[in-house]
Amino acid sequence: MAKNEINRLHMGKLIAQYLNLEKPGPARTEVEKIFELSRQVDRLQREYDSDMSDGSRAFAERLYRRNAKLRSILSALNRALDHFAFSPQMYIPLMTAAGSPAPVDKATGWTVGLEGGHVAVSWKPQEMATFKSETYPAESIVKTLLELTEMGALSRIRQCFCGKWFYAESNKKEVCSDACRARKFNTNNPTYHQQHAKKLTKGKHAKTKKR
Ligand SMILES: [Zn+2]
Repeated sequence: MAKNEINRLHMGKLIAQYLNLEKPGPARTEVEKIFELSRQVDRLQREYDSDMSDGSRAFAERLYRRNAKLRSILSALNRALDHFAFSPQMYIPLMTAAGSPAPVDKATGWTVGLEGGHVAVSWKPQEMATFKSETYPAESIVKTLLELTEMGALSRIRQCFCGKWFYAESNKKEVCSDACRARKFNTNNPTYHQQHAKKLTKGKHAKTKKR
């Protein structure tokens, strides 16, 4: 897997974990607001990408309309972002197995584990953080959401029908686990016995009605 892909996977899994674990509260509400606005931005970005490949003469007109919409969403998004303050820091990243987000020390908000490799930039939440999260610092989550939006990968953060959030490694993935895939398959394809039982009940019901 390419380095960028691994980064995207870590980032996506971090967001999914936050959405699965963080309890309702001011931090979660604010993160969800930024998530929703970023999703609107992401949709417009993807619309633009498919428009680009079209290349028809109406493109400029669509671009103009899209930019107007985008500007109003961005202005709402930037107003929400005004509540967040960061200080840039340089650090040695953690060596983690691909796909597993590094554990975070709840007290400090810093990741813990074995360090190694090239230094990286991180954006540390300022001491007077407005929104206190229980799981990961809201600032880190917001930063990651924005980066995924920039990369055009935000649509890969999805909610399974069971309610759980997950990061779809491939665009096709719509469920969080093998267990949920099996459950979905069984609902769509009832077994012979289930179908047979249904027919029987229907038949009986019809007879009772006639009498
Ligand atoms: Zn599921």
